[in-house]
Order: sequence, then structure tokens, then C-alpha cells
Amino acid sequence: MRKRKRDTKWRRKNAENLRMKRDEIFGKICKICKSTKRLCLHKKDGRAHYTDQYTLKKALENPQEWVRLCRYCHDGVHWCMKYLGWEYNTIVSQLVCKSAGADT
Ligand SMILES: [Zn+2]
Ligand SMILES: [Zn+2]
Repeated sequence: MRKRKRDTKWRRKNAENLRMKRDEIFGKICKICKSTKRLCLHKKDGRAHYTDQYTLKKALENPQEWVRLCRYCHDGVHWCMKYLGWEYNTIVSQLVCKSAGADT
């Protein structure tokens, strides 16, 4: 049996675990531009969401509904959804194909 010394300590540990799990499941790389900086999670259905710890917990429960993006791509994805009416999959196929098929 583990003892809970202090709630704050437990919470910090818990947050660490969540972050580790997140990196395991979603990787440490932006799905679109492959950046490893300023990453966040995005909900694929495009509904407004937060990027806090509570959201992260929910994301880990349904990892297929979420994706790791950097801040810039994340903004871009929401922009496309809002103004162009694109779905997440459309956006990714548009953006990822372009950068992946870069034969010089
Ligand atoms: Zn990106
Ligand atoms: Zn988002």
C-alpha cells in the first residue's frame, strides 16, 4: 500500500504520469509538420477544447479521438475547420501529403 503524503505531491506525480503516458501514446512530434516544439493535443472532431490536465486525462481515455499537434498547426487546423469547413482528416491529407511527398 502506498501512502499519500501530501496531496500536492501526489498530484504532481500524477501529472508526470499523465505526461509520460501522453508521450507514449501520441509521440513527441507534431502529426503535421513533425515539429517537436510547443506541442499540444487536438480533438479531431474540431469541437472546442482545452489543453489542460483534465483534457489530457480525457484524451488518454479515448486516444483515437485526439492527435498531437504543435501550436502553429493546431491554430491552422482550427482555422481550416472554422473558415473552410474542412474535417480533420481532410486537413491532414492536404498538409501531410505536401510535406511528405517532397521529392526534389
Ligand atoms: Zn506542427
Ligand atoms: Zn484543437
